[in-house]
Amino acid sequence: MKTLPLTAKDFAWVKMTPAFMKKKADEYLSHKKKVYAEIKAILPEKRTYENTLYALERCDDIFDSIFDKMSFLSSVSTKKEVRDAATEVLTYMSEKSVDIEYDRGLFIAMLEYYEGNFRDEKKQLRKEDIKLLKETIREYRRMGFDLPLPKQKRLKQLLKKASGLSLAFRKNINDYQDYILCTKEELDGLPDRFIDALPKHTDGKYIVSLQYPHKLPFMESANNRTKREELAIKDLKKGGKKNLKVIKELVELRHEISSILGYKHHADFVTENRMTKSGKVASEFQEELLKKIAPAAKTELKELQVHAKALAIPKINYFDITYVASKLEKKLYDIDQEIVKSYFPLPHVQAEMFTLFSKLFSISVHQVQMPLWHKDVQFFEIRDEVKENKGELIGYFALDLYPREGKFGHACVDHISPAKEKGWKSEEYDAPVAAILCNFTTPTKKTPSLLSVREIETLFHEFGHLLHATLTRARLQSQSGTNVAWDFVETPSQIMENWVWDKEVLQKLSKNYKTGERMPNQMIDSIINSKRHMSAYFYTRQLIMGKLDMDMHLGKVKDAEAAYAKMNKMYFNVALPKVSPLFVAGFGHLVGYDAGYYSYLWALVYACDAFESFKTKGNKNVFTNTEVGLKWRREVLEKGSSEDELKLLTNFLGRKPSNKAFLKELGVK
Ligand SMILES: [Zn+2]
Repeated sequence: MKTLPLTAKDFAWVKMTPAFMKKKADEYLSHKKKVYAEIKAILPEKRTYENTLYALERCDDIFDSIFDKMSFLSSVSTKKEVRDAATEVLTYMSEKSVDIEYDRGLFIAMLEYYEGNFRDEKKQLRKEDIKLLKETIREYRRMGFDLPLPKQKRLKQLLKKASGLSLAFRKNINDYQDYILCTKEELDGLPDRFIDALPKHTDGKYIVSLQYPHKLPFMESANNRTKREELAIKDLKKGGKKNLKVIKELVELRHEISSILGYKHHADFVTENRMTKSGKVASEFQEELLKKIAPAAKTELKELQVHAKALAIPKINYFDITYVASKLEKKLYDIDQEIVKSYFPLPHVQAEMFTLFSKLFSISVHQVQMPLWHKDVQFFEIRDEVKENKGELIGYFALDLYPREGKFGHACVDHISPAKEKGWKSEEYDAPVAAILCNFTTPTKKTPSLLSVREIETLFHEFGHLLHATLTRARLQSQSGTNVAWDFVETPSQIMENWVWDKEVLQKLSKNYKTGERMPNQMIDSIINSKRHMSAYFYTRQLIMGKLDMDMHLGKVKDAEAAYAKMNKMYFNVALPKVSPLFVAGFGHLVGYDAGYYSYLWALVYACDAFESFKTKGNKNVFTNTEVGLKWRREVLEKGSSEDELKLLTNFLGRKPSNKAFLKELGVK
């Protein structure tokens, strides 16, 4: 396949006006309606892959490409009116398109083809075409389209109710604002910079809220134990009592919906189209890790207890863990973050990152000039370095790395143009275009942007998503790039984080911005050793939350608060306060990540497993093992979801994936 190059003209969308967006939105909606009507009107005997399924797939391509760009502008445009209009038009488009897409007639059309002409045509179809067909029909079944009419009606009612409750659950958490009041003395241990930025109450005391930028530093550094307890209790009550009722009702509704659709539990419904395929597999995955990691977490907590005595804490309570852990980390590793940062100027880290992964994945990265949305944004093309295709264009990406007013405030990869074949079985390929959005410190005339090791990890992580999006060769748009199963999408990104913690890589990434020197060995060792600090505890906590979520959706939990308290006692030997609501009402992931909290660790464990393959034999190391790099590119990054993700991983590994490498990383057998 030949990737089609872009020219400056392809960036006209950067100047999209609100009026243009509205016009386009309406055009695309009516286009969508028209195509759907055409697909439905075809007689069963005239149905082909191209006029039925492929027509549906391509209809969305055009729609998505405008959708992607608008969504992108809502995150990056420098003009407020453009961002606002994009957000508004997007909401309008997605509401309208849900109505159009929720169409039983399309399900019938797909079935007519599947049960009719597909049998004759099958031989001419590619593997990915057949996968798309089966999955499209499955998705329509998951919408309840093959149920008898009264059941469909009931389902629709329940779904509507569930969506209302989901919104309420989120809103109750977002609106929940609580805080504690502290005198200056009660903020002892916190840096002046933190204290000076705190808002003040009318009585002159400082307000410490439940928001992360307040909560985390406070729980880590505040010496006042009573105040830490006060904040921790408030945090456990997040969401409020009414959310307990909401989540209970929502879990019951989800169960009823899944039963109507023919699933034993909501967890089975959710996992069906993911790598795990069943609630049982996801649950067993977590149980096994928990069994192995929890004892190590207990050992870590024992070490904390020893250190706690030196801090005059006779017995560690739940609100002491973060505090003592942070103190112990300082004692053990003594890392000064400001000094560490001075070794990692962003331009150097970026250049080294390009060199490292270009070599590893047999690609090259070249900066090109295009008319973009902001002057600080850099744009690159990726070319192939594999001998037989040397110099051929693969895709494009942008780096938009510094904060500015109105820009998306976290780190992510956004798609600008999805990759796809030009037409069915065409040898021409629409180039993928994606962008990394980050918010690293803005450089000044004197100082470049300086990164902490965690920020480098973020950059590498996002670069992993970016390569997944841009090295893709999957032919169908809905299977290309990062369009993969939920519990796999973080594997190609999390694998990249591993390189950051390699000694030689860290050395290459470092170059003191004043002296030009590499980071001293001892400092690098400290950084690498600190990675494991309290990690068994951290993952046990993740697993407890994952288990709570999964058990709730497997019908195993009657009282979620009690279950949570019980696990804390069992695994950490800490008694949570006897308050209600206790944690569950503020566990935001129960909506959106429901029966899916496990995915984060699932993806991480297999990223770790895959990374093991790069650490091989002889004089090869993690950044020169180009055969393995090319294999990762070919078997995983290029494939998207054109094949089952578990199969991709198994093909890459040459065996079934395992949790061994992850456990080894944690020092657990
Ligand atoms: Zn990610």
